[in-house]
Amino acid sequence: MDFSTYFRDYPNAEGRFGEFGGAYLPPELQTVFVEIDRAYHQICHSSRFISELRRIRKEFQGRPTPIYYCERLSQSLNTGCHIYLKREDLNHTGAHKLNHCMGEGLLASFMGKKKLIAETGAGQHGVALATAAAYFGLKCDIYMGTVDIAKQAPNVARMKILGARVIPVTKGLQTLKEAVDAAFEAYLNEYQDAIYCIGSVVGPHPFPLMVRDFQMCVGIEAREQFQAMTGEMPDAICACVGGGSNSAGLFAPFLGDPVDIYGVEPLGRGSGHGEHAASMTYGKKGVLHGFESMLLQEQDGSASPVYSVASGLDYPAVGPEHAFWNQIGRVKYVTCDDRDAIDAFFKLSRLEGIIPALESAHAIAYALKWGRENQGRTILANCSGRGDKDIDYVMENYGIPEI
Ligand SMILES: *Cc1c(COP(=O)(O)O)cnc(C)c1O
Repeated sequence: MDFSTYFRDYPNAEGRFGEFGGAYLPPELQTVFVEIDRAYHQICHSSRFISELRRIRKEFQGRPTPIYYCERLSQSLNTGCHIYLKREDLNHTGAHKLNHCMGEGLLASFMGKKKLIAETGAGQHGVALATAAAYFGLKCDIYMGTVDIAKQAPNVARMKILGARVIPVTKGLQTLKEAVDAAFEAYLNEYQDAIYCIGSVVGPHPFPLMVRDFQMCVGIEAREQFQAMTGEMPDAICACVGGGSNSAGLFAPFLGDPVDIYGVEPLGRGSGHGEHAASMTYGKKGVLHGFESMLLQEQDGSASPVYSVASGLDYPAVGPEHAFWNQIGRVKYVTCDDRDAIDAFFKLSRLEGIIPALESAHAIAYALKWGRENQGRTILANCSGRGDKDIDYVMENYGIPEI
């Protein structure tokens, strides 16, 4: 495929990347999403929006984040392979999620909205969005299942400190799915004053496009930085795939380059039903949360239960653009289980002094595996976030390995 016109051709006017994507919405919300799409297409080209977003990234978020050569980690492989990281763990709030939350917040301000609405599972998207709301002086309502609220006390506290309302959802299993339903319902009543902010490259059009665009700073920076540092392109790049935002942001600017691209899905405890969240690897085409993509589903088409050690990767579907990249063969989707992710978590901590998020540890584990099999070549992995949030869980469940 020729990628020179890719960003003009995809998604099409219906928000489709090939056969994936679209906007499956109740009639009441269809015009609302058309309005967001129209506003985004106007605003994102205005020089005021572009220069303001640039200023925010530099002065508030601390961008560009560096890329870093992992010398000791690379040497530990004994294959002459070189591993580099894009350091999204150094982005303000400690992960890539703030990249699209600041974009969504700025769009809301330009549209004259007064409130940001979202759901959150583990609380990472809620914290990033509450940060954006505080920055822009907007109200913020975060819907969260009561089961998740009990599990994620530090993130609930962070959201409240930042001035957000955390609204408990008591229906059903009281986790992410019910929180999505509750947030959509609230949005139906408040769309005139509020905007619904999706936390990954998922949901109805235009969110997969918008979130990818806001995350592309990751790949644009990394591509320039890598060439400035080494004089070359990496042979391969990789990133973990939950909904697919940090990976889409890294991958998109490299699509036209002679670079192998790997999306790493969480294999959890194994390939059995409910033991993983590898939606591309084991899923089938289906519709969830307003878009069509690869979905882990039951016989009746409802979403399957998912699990992985990294709660940020626990989503039964994947962004529609990834499903398209998989179908055309441009990106290869691979898996990494809990055990290899935990091993990479400790290796990066001990050999480089960087504690990665358990999500990011999946990408690092794959870079290590690739490095063992590709003598003398270079791979760039996205370190999507820092691991501070995971240390209690790792200590309780795994303890400290022998040195
Ligand atoms: C949420 C999260 C992810 C997974 O989300 P994507 O949309 O797939 O990027 C990955 N890494 C970190 C650190 C996260 O917080």
